[in-house]
Amino acid sequence: MTTAPPVARGGASRPWGAAAAAVAAAGLVTALVAGARLGPWWKERALPRGQKPTVLLITLDATRADRLGAYGYSQGRTPAADELAAQGVLFEQAYAAAPLCLPSHASILTGRLPVHNGVRDDLDVLPPDAPTLAERFRAAGYRTAAFVGTTSVDQSRGLARGFDVYDDDFGPPGKRVGAYERGAASAVVDRALAWVQAPHDQPVFLWAHLADSMAPHNAPAAVAADFPGRAYDAEIAFVDEQMGRLVAGVRRRHPQTLVVAMADHGESLGDHGEDAFGYFVYSATTRVPLVVSMPGKVPSGVRVAPVVRTVDLAPTLLDLIGLPALPVSDGVSLVPLVVGRATEGPGPAAIENVSLQSKYGLAPLFALRAGPHLYVKAPRPELYDTAQDPQEKDEASARLTRVAARLASELGAVIPEAASYPGGLRDPKDTLDLYNRYQLALDTEGRREFEQAIGAHRSILSEAPGFLYSRRKVTELLIRAGRLAESELEMKDLVAKDQALDNTYLNLALLRYRAEKRDEALEWLTKGEARYPRSAALRHRRGRLLLETKRYPEAEEELREALSLEPRLLDARVALGEALHAQGRDEEAKGVLEELRHVAPDSPEAAEAGQVIPGLDLTPVAPAPAASPAPSPPAR
Ligand SMILES: [Zn+2]
Repeated sequence: MTTAPPVARGGASRPWGAAAAAVAAAGLVTALVAGARLGPWWKERALPRGQKPTVLLITLDATRADRLGAYGYSQGRTPAADELAAQGVLFEQAYAAAPLCLPSHASILTGRLPVHNGVRDDLDVLPPDAPTLAERFRAAGYRTAAFVGTTSVDQSRGLARGFDVYDDDFGPPGKRVGAYERGAASAVVDRALAWVQAPHDQPVFLWAHLADSMAPHNAPAAVAADFPGRAYDAEIAFVDEQMGRLVAGVRRRHPQTLVVAMADHGESLGDHGEDAFGYFVYSATTRVPLVVSMPGKVPSGVRVAPVVRTVDLAPTLLDLIGLPALPVSDGVSLVPLVVGRATEGPGPAAIENVSLQSKYGLAPLFALRAGPHLYVKAPRPELYDTAQDPQEKDEASARLTRVAARLASELGAVIPEAASYPGGLRDPKDTLDLYNRYQLALDTEGRREFEQAIGAHRSILSEAPGFLYSRRKVTELLIRAGRLAESELEMKDLVAKDQALDNTYLNLALLRYRAEKRDEALEWLTKGEARYPRSAALRHRRGRLLLETKRYPEAEEELREALSLEPRLLDARVALGEALHAQGRDEEAKGVLEELRHVAPDSPEAAEAGQVIPGLDLTPVAPAPAASPAPSPPAR
C-alpha cells in the first residue's frame, strides 16, 4: 500500500507552489519538471502509430476526496486509489458540476455543464444531439461499454449513446424495488471483467460506475467488521477493493490502459446539517477525487493544486489519446497543467443544484469555486475562504464584499439564472429541517406505516406548501392506504398545476381502471403521453389498454413505441405478441415471443408468452406477481 502525503490545503491559489511542495515532501520524482522538459509530451512518448490505449473510467458514487488515503485520510483503507495516485496524477481540488448522480455523470460524459447539456435534474434526459465522449471513442475505432450501478443513470436517461454495451441490469422497470435499484460494486465489476475478456484487437473505452458508497452504508460484513462504527469508511474500503480488482483485470487483458478514478459527488456526512448529498453545494458534496494513471505514459506522483472541474475530464482524455475534441465543451484539457506547460488552473468551477426548486419548491443553489473562495448564490448569498476555513463554516461575506461581487458576476456569466435569481423562494439553508423530515418520512413509508407517513408529509406541507416531493408522495401513500378518492383529487390538482410526473398520470389511470372506467383511464394515459411523450411506462400501459379494448393496430403501434424507448419491458413484448396474433399475423407474433424467450428465458413473461399462440413451445415458469401501483422514481 502506498500512502500519499496529506493534501496541501490552501495551495489552490498558488498554481504550482503547493503541488511542487507536496511532490517534494513525498520524495517522489519531480515529474512536473520532467514533464515540462518533454514538451508535447504525449506525442513524444506515444504508443506505436495507430495504436490507442484502452481507457478505463471509474466513477465512485458519493465518494468524498478526503476519505481516501491519497488525499490524506489515515483511517480508511484505499490501496487501489492510493496506488493509482502514486503512479499517476492526482487533482487536489476537483469539483463536480452538480451534487446529483445524473447531472454530474452527464457533465463528465459530455464535458458540458448541466445548464448547457440540459441534464439538470434526476429525471432529465440527455438530448439526442449532445455529443458524448463514448461516441467520440467509438468513432475512433474503440469498443465501448458501460456498467452502471444505479437506476439513476440507467439507459432511459440518454447516457447510453455511443456505448456498444450499456449494462444497467437491475431487472425490468416497474419491478425494481429497494435493493434492486442498486447493483453491488462486485457484480458491476464481475460483468465488466467478463465483457473485457472478449478476443478483440480494438482498444476499449470502459466506464464502470461503482455505487455502493451511497447511503444507506451497509458494506459486506467481512469488510464492515474492520471498521466498527465507521460504515462509510467500510463502504469505501469495499468499493476500493472492487476497483483494484477491476483495474488489475483490465490491465491484464489490455496492458496499455489509461485509468481515471473519480467521483460524481461527495457525501455530506452531517456537514452543514446534511446527511448525504443532493441538497447543498458546499465542498463536502461537490469536491471529488480525480486521479489519472498510466504508468510510463502519464507522469507519476504529480499532485495538481489549482481548482479543476469534472467537465475538464472529457477534453483531457481526448487530448491524451490524440483524438479530436468534442465540438463544444465547458472544460479544457488539463494536459498542459499536468506537464507544467501551464501554471494557471482552467478557470473557476461552476456548480448548481436546480432540483431544490423542482423537488421541494425551494430556491435553487448555484456556486462558484475560484481559487480559495467558494461563493454560494442563495437568497442570502455566502462566501467562504477555504484557505482559512476548509470546513466552510465561517461566512466571509462581510469581510470580502468585493470578492463576492466579482464571483457573483462571474457565476452569472456562466449560469444566467444565478444573475437573474428567482425571488420569493425560500433559502434552502432555512429549510434543511424540512428536508431531513422528508427523509424520515421516507423511512416511515419503508416500514409500511402509511398513515403516519401521510401525516409527516402533510406536516411538512403545512409549513412549505411548495414542497413538491411531499405532495407527490402523499398521492401515492393515499393509494397505498386505500384512500383512493382523496388521492385522485390531489393528483388532479398536481396535473392542473403542471406538477405531475408520468407516474401521477399512470396512477390516475390505474384508479379509473379499478373503478371499471376504461375510457377515462385511457384518457388519463393519453393526457400523460402528451405531457411525457418519452415515457415508456405510459406508452406500455396505454398499449395494454388499447389491446384490451380490441383496438389492435393502435395497440401494436403504441407497444412498439414503448419497446423502442425501453426494450426491457418484457410485458410489452407479450402484449405486442397478442396484438399481432389478434390481427392474424402469427408468424410476426411468434418472432416477437421467441425473442422474448431468448432475452429473458426464466421470466414469468416468457411463460405467459407460451399462452399467446396455442402450440407455441415455451418452458413454463412461475406465474407473475400481482400488479401494484407504479413505483415513483428514486428521491435522489
Ligand atoms: Zn451519485
